[in-house]
Amino acid sequence: MLLYAPNGSQFPGFDQVVFAKNTSAKLAAVGEVCDAGMVCVFDKEGLRTYSASDCKVEGKIFTHDARDKKTKLYPLTLFRKKKEITDVEIQAALTTCVEGPPLERKFSAPEPIKQMPASIPDATELSQLNLAHTYIKEGLSEIDRLHAKCGDVGIKYLKRVFPDIKAPKKYRCKYCIEGKIHKFSHPACAPGRRTVYLPGVSIAADHAGPYALCTGGSKYSELFIDEGSDYLFAFRQKSKTDHYRDLRLVIAECRALSGRPLQIFRSDGDGTFKSAEHAEIMLSEKIRHEFSAPYDSDTNPKVERARRTIFEGVCTALLRANAPASFWGEAEAHKIYTINNLPTQPDPKNPGKYASRWNSLTGSERPLNLARLQAFGTLVTCYIPVKARHEGKHPGQRRSFQGALLGYEGNSPCYRIWDLAARKVRIVSYNFTICHEGYYPFHEKANWPPPCLEDPVLFSPINDGILSTREWSKYKFDAEDTKEIFAKSPGLVVDRVEDLPVVVKDSLFPGFFGSGCVGKLLIV
Ligand SMILES: [Zn+2]
Repeated sequence: MLLYAPNGSQFPGFDQVVFAKNTSAKLAAVGEVCDAGMVCVFDKEGLRTYSASDCKVEGKIFTHDARDKKTKLYPLTLFRKKKEITDVEIQAALTTCVEGPPLERKFSAPEPIKQMPASIPDATELSQLNLAHTYIKEGLSEIDRLHAKCGDVGIKYLKRVFPDIKAPKKYRCKYCIEGKIHKFSHPACAPGRRTVYLPGVSIAADHAGPYALCTGGSKYSELFIDEGSDYLFAFRQKSKTDHYRDLRLVIAECRALSGRPLQIFRSDGDGTFKSAEHAEIMLSEKIRHEFSAPYDSDTNPKVERARRTIFEGVCTALLRANAPASFWGEAEAHKIYTINNLPTQPDPKNPGKYASRWNSLTGSERPLNLARLQAFGTLVTCYIPVKARHEGKHPGQRRSFQGALLGYEGNSPCYRIWDLAARKVRIVSYNFTICHEGYYPFHEKANWPPPCLEDPVLFSPINDGILSTREWSKYKFDAEDTKEIFAKSPGLVVDRVEDLPVVVKDSLFPGFFGSGCVGKLLIV
């Protein structure tokens, strides 16, 4: 397919274009456009392109680097003053890497919180006190607001949750678009004729990671889906062997919620699933283990599709909130809770009506209080009950704190809130939380916990084609992680590795070189 400029002339450099229906945004390489005889000028206004023959570049040159012939990338050479160099070799190696373009970070700063409502008494009858209240940002449209609250769910499903909502035919969410640009190893597949299970009797599981270390110190995520209800369980894990602990929890939880014993467990042939310890759990719980065919995700489609949805949801939530990558675990839990509780599935008992995955698994008809749902990272003000204040009650005492809403505490009517000043997670009753919809405190980097300033841009290295060595170094992967990443994503490129001194190479990719590791380190 050929592409044309607005003036009707053919645009060079785009003569191998394939349109894929399912991609929501297209990417193009500037290098290829330049190779085709164009000159591209980027500035804060936008992008202008010129045909090289019609263009003369004038002005005082600020920096000039030749294009790398081998990698076709554009290096930028910069230096540090000598005394600032702490580790000469590493710094010299890292500063030669050109970072990718920054993600869009436009935002309007949150307004200072008005005074706490006059209704906050230092009351003793806290159980009767209900502060739950929401301030909505001026200019935030109803559809944007509800779409964000529901974890960026698609419009088709949003209409099931809010049947009266007026949705435009084409709804565009920039976070969804950006959150879905990645190379994902598991393509979505169409459901064929499959066995239908009762809720609670068949579970499929899937491991993902390693990711950037998350706030709780985990780097893996394991997802379980109940195939009868599509209800999801997700666990953050420090090591894949945490599977044995979490599997027992899922078996118990699933039985308690559905009232049925688990009969079938489905997974791929990953090490932990093939271990003796896993087999022992299957045997003692009288569960049959079925493996998917190697390299064929279609034999385990539900969990693969759910994994993709969750992964994209985490990307989108982090982007919208501008939260550090190490908050992926909280964002994942937030997404899982939202998916499990939104009434988006046709309700077999009430044709034309919709129920949630939770309703299907438990058989309960209790609807979710939709007013409780909030977008990940929303600014909140939380009331601190008198008893919980340090040193009792005296003037100047903190009676409230500001935070970012991280999610829901599964078994109690509480939010998980990141206390911005104390830099820790607090569990706060819905009733003591005032939400400021449309405001996201992590848009101010000053609100980030300082160690997070060193987080990689993306929580997972696999969803991006090219990483600079500096970005790679931020994941702090050990030898096992490195091996796993390159086995899962053989097309991943870490830029300019070959130029690095051996010592640096070995510290960045521990055990990778000269250990007989069969992974590939591609250099473009
Ligand atoms: Zn969205």
